[in-house]
Amino acid sequence: MTTTALETVAHWIGGERVHDASRYGEVTDPADGAVTRRVAFASTADVDRTVAAALAGFETWSAQSLTRRSNVLFRFRELVAAHAVDLARVITAEHGKTVDDARGEVQRGLEVVEFACGAAHLLKGEASESVATGVDSHSLRQPIGVSVGITPFNFPAMVPMWMFPLALACGNAFILKPSEKDPSASLLMAGWLAEAGLPDGAFNVLHGDRETVEALLRHPGVASVSFVGSTPVAKSIYEIATTHGKRVQALGGAKNHAVVMPDADVEIAADAIASAAYGSAGQRCMAISAVVAVGPAGDELAHALEARVDAIQMGPGADEGTQMGPLVTGAARDRVTSAIAAGVGEGAELRRDGRGREVPGHEEGFWVGPTLFDRVTPEMSIYRDEVFGPVLVLLRADTFEAALELVNGNPYGNGAAIFTTDGRTAREFEHRVQAGMVGVNVPIPVPMAYYSFGGWKQSLFGDLHVHGREGVLFYTRGKVVTERWPEQARGADYGFPAHR
Ligand code: NAD
Repeated sequence: MTTTALETVAHWIGGERVHDASRYGEVTDPADGAVTRRVAFASTADVDRTVAAALAGFETWSAQSLTRRSNVLFRFRELVAAHAVDLARVITAEHGKTVDDARGEVQRGLEVVEFACGAAHLLKGEASESVATGVDSHSLRQPIGVSVGITPFNFPAMVPMWMFPLALACGNAFILKPSEKDPSASLLMAGWLAEAGLPDGAFNVLHGDRETVEALLRHPGVASVSFVGSTPVAKSIYEIATTHGKRVQALGGAKNHAVVMPDADVEIAADAIASAAYGSAGQRCMAISAVVAVGPAGDELAHALEARVDAIQMGPGADEGTQMGPLVTGAARDRVTSAIAAGVGEGAELRRDGRGREVPGHEEGFWVGPTLFDRVTPEMSIYRDEVFGPVLVLLRADTFEAALELVNGNPYGNGAAIFTTDGRTAREFEHRVQAGMVGVNVPIPVPMAYYSFGGWKQSLFGDLHVHGREGVLFYTRGKVVTERWPEQARGADYGFPAHR
């Protein structure tokens, strides 16, 4: 089948679908390997046109009252909730994750929409009466203009929803550049925002690759850039966009650790860790990819994890009973199998090997079965590098201190979890671990929408995390007003005004 015969995933610019492009990408069905759609890639001229539409949308939208803005978001919330299964199926068809998992991501995204519906509360300023005689002060938080969001393939609905609901609630216009691997969810959301009453141009979708992204980062009409993706790209986005005067938050990759203490219930820990490591085929930024077993916990945990791995049902995400789908592309599968080969080459003990696994009837799918390494050491690439696949590595440490040192020595700092029944150890971990999101007997500690999401170290470039209060700060800028209403002229005063 040639790509020209395929349906095209269009841009959404100024309230209209735009199909034309000089370049296109291919979208595949990960369970069958077949190309199912093509996606238009935006040129520099498309970027110019989109930013112009967004600037016009910003004029209209930022002038609307807080109540009207939250009404639009309420309606959007209802539309997404009513179509959650349709959206989940579209995600499954392009990403490969199970429909249940995709519904979960829609739900987590909706929680941010719900939070954004109440953003008016967080946009309130402060006021002080009589800061000097007859002088009052108050502060405002105002929108920043056109916000760009560049998002990864692994959560095509939730990660955009970390960004645009709050950006819009704060009065900004938004341009979403979704992953070219699973672009269709963004178009559904654009349609529902329009149906909810969002003015044309306030939300736009532009598909593309590096060329499109870099044109957005350099565009003088863009005020801020929110990025979520891999660390090398996050770092480069941060550098280019800040050089061009944008406000930037760039969330990068991860190597999330779980420390299992000897006092932990091994069965509980193994269930939690296996779910967090192999769910969505390990393609979650908060997936557990490294377990540090302390002292005697190691052998028992290794056996308990093997039992879970052996029971995982791998298959197409759309099939009932599937627990783990394929990887998103053939390139992702090849990258993960090479990482496994490197781990073997470096001497790690391969307890379960997911390479070469096939699913009957879906031989062309991008499969890698759940993989478990033991006796991994910190210098091995299978530990150092983010694999972003169903590969879990088990390391051993003699003491809690040694385990903590290992976790804190890792360059990433997204999430970290501890499994223990001892409150004092948990508290110590919580206080000293270098990670932005911490779980105590919780393997994937993704904060609720009213807290902020983000990591430390190589997992975040920029100062502010996404959603929650920090999201409101990111999408607004502050202004302080000092006012006096004098009754009569008081004469010029050439000294620096002191508030008395
Ligand atoms: P990616 O970095 O390849 O792509 C992310 C986005 O950037 C996509 O829209 C892509 O089109 C664009 N892009 C890719 N290369 C680019 C380049 N050279 N210049 C400009 N833009 C470019 O990431 P991915 O493979 O889509 O997603 C997986 C990665 O995202 C993993 O590393 C994962 O840990 C990370 N992630 C992190 C978080 C977090 O919260 N920290 C959340 C989700 C995913």
